Amino acid sequence: MQPGKVALVTGANKGIGFEIARRLARQNITVLLGARDENRGKEAAGRLRDEGLDVHFLPLDQTRPESIAAAARQVEQQFGRLDVLVNNAAILLDQGVAPSNLDAEALRQTLETNVVGVVNVTRALLPLIRKGPAGRIVNLSSSGGSLGLIGDRVGVFAPAYQISKAAVNGFTVLLASELRNTPIKVNSACPGWVRTDMGGPGAPLTVEQGADTPVWLATLPDDGPTGGFFNSRQPVSW
Ligand code: NAP
Repeated sequence: MQPGKVALVTGANKGIGFEIARRLARQNITVLLGARDENRGKEAAGRLRDEGLDVHFLPLDQTRPESIAAAARQVEQQFGRLDVLVNNAAILLDQGVAPSNLDAEALRQTLETNVVGVVNVTRALLPLIRKGPAGRIVNLSSSGGSLGLIGDRVGVFAPAYQISKAAVNGFTVLLASELRNTPIKVNSACPGWVRTDMGGPGAPLTVEQGADTPVWLATLPDDGPTGGFFNSRQPVSW
């Protein structure tokens, strides 16, 4: 029997990542719920298993290379491949800071998690994604990282974070281009402004709404797009 699909969602113990994990599992995908904290990760995976979903906690701190390597080893030993990688985990440290006051340490930490972490996780798992028939990689980005929209529809609200998402978009385009002659698709998703710990209580969208575009990109058919940036399933300007 052909085994079902396997997905990994990073930073999935809460917020949009948790909802993405739930939505993918509802499509009969085995979901590895990545979380850096064991208690939070186990508790979140347990909640989704209580809903009858095939979800398992996978320890993964994307700022720690040894944690990434251990996670990749575990996926390889248990499943031998990975069909879907959703790079969801991120931090936002500099809400409300002016670009002229951009703090070097906040920038370093933000890039370490949001960019270097995403690149390292993807690099560690790509060999397993190549083993599947039609890999999908989704990088959670933000319209706040759209260089074309800043100053127009998107304001300046957290410069280190916004720079990190612009860099994530760069990685999406570069990797998608490298993989263009493979079945693997790589896309960036903006979930919109969503009510989570990061988005805050005043955000207009629910996590269900925020998860829609990432889940759509994670389950694209073979004729779907690659190397794009989407919000509400529509292209966003870079
Ligand atoms: P959130 O509620 O703050 O959740 C972030 C998740 O990332 C948490 O599970 C957190 O784990 C995890 N994380 C942080 N650093 C990590 C690390 N080093 N290793 C592994 N996991 C780590 O954020 P969210 O609002 O759901 O956002 C999810 C994604 O959507 C992010 O990429 C964000 O930039 C993007 N986004 C969000 C909004 C919005 O309005 N909310 C808008 C645009 C884009 P802990 O629980 O252990 O801290």
